Amino acid sequence: MNRKMTALGKSPSKIREIFEYSRGRKAAIGAENVFDFSLGNPSIPAPESVNAAIGKLISTTDSVSLHGYTSAQGDLTVRTAVADSLTARFGVPASPDDIYMTCGAAASLTVTLKAICEPGDEVVVLAPFFPEYSVFIENAGAKKVVVNTAPPDFTVDFEALGAAINKNTAAVLINFPNNPTGAVINKDEAKRLGELLREKSDALSKPIYLISDEPYRELSYEAPAPFMPCFYENTIVDYSFSKSLSVPGERIGYIFVPSSAADSRDIYAAVCGAGRSMGYVCAPSLMQHTVKNCVFDTSDISAYNANRVLFYNALCDLGYTVTKPKGAFYLFLKSPSGDSGEFCERAKKYEILMVPSDSFGITGYARIAYCVTKETIEDSIPAFKALMEEYKK
Ligand code: PLP
Repeated sequence: MNRKMTALGKSPSKIREIFEYSRGRKAAIGAENVFDFSLGNPSIPAPESVNAAIGKLISTTDSVSLHGYTSAQGDLTVRTAVADSLTARFGVPASPDDIYMTCGAAASLTVTLKAICEPGDEVVVLAPFFPEYSVFIENAGAKKVVVNTAPPDFTVDFEALGAAINKNTAAVLINFPNNPTGAVINKDEAKRLGELLREKSDALSKPIYLISDEPYRELSYEAPAPFMPCFYENTIVDYSFSKSLSVPGERIGYIFVPSSAADSRDIYAAVCGAGRSMGYVCAPSLMQHTVKNCVFDTSDISAYNANRVLFYNALCDLGYTVTKPKGAFYLFLKSPSGDSGEFCERAKKYEILMVPSDSFGITGYARIAYCVTKETIEDSIPAFKALMEEYKK
């Protein structure tokens, strides 16, 4: 038995733990009485094009080939459609040989990290960060180096990032639009990030890769999220359709290794090798063919935007300190006591379920996933009011 894996399996993520608690409360007092903001599960249906594509594929395609193995890296016509969409949308050269189809962003990340890192290498992550990064980086035999982002907007702290990069750094891992803060970098920041990494690569005489984790790329409400390969040549994109098409249970995404990246052919081969070594070959065929038909589509994200504005304004009016999120579907709320665990525990008394920020590598905040119905948000406001009144006493 691998003791490390047993320990990992026995310690589910905090988010899952709260989600399980919410199931118990919902069974006990009724789902409508629990304000469950714990999980980033899309609440908007997949666009019609997804169901239409699945229906058409099932009724018109020979079932043996539809449900059969594809190439390990993904079906050629699917990879071509993905590559062409990247060129059309962002103006970057992309070919099917730069694309590796995966089971969502989690697989994209584990494969990319395994492909890029030698044991002992360092991967810089920006806190707050998606908790599973710790697991994925450790799985690659690498060491996580944490650099805090700059509050109140949680944008990149360039000085701190520059100071964290050294000869052992293999990659910097970013996630904009961000889970849990909702931060999105702007074009100037993207440019500055590219310049910093180029400077560091030159100084260290080796490429510092940028891994851009982009499950929320399409969920950017104020301006499009910068596409990092346009700003830094050594970027590898880890994409997922989970949130953009509301299909997280179908497990589909891709890795894009642009030809501009240093040693791009070898990196792509390493991606294929890492996928092979971990069994992440041949992403689900039906979903590959489905997304081929939906590469320019998204769910109707206007409901998330409406939730964002409604919830942000209501919480500010009640006296909470909240960073206005620009993307994804999360709000990052400052704990009135400064203690994230205490805040989330106290909120449970009012049936409000949030995730303490300690899980994301910083203390003092709580994450709210606002991918819920408008009614859930509206109904929760009196509970948030009562909670704040406790702190004001
Ligand atoms: N990265 C971030 C920042 C996420 O928030 C998530 C899921 O919520 C993932 C990766 C994993 O996404 P997927 O469901 O596509 O594996």
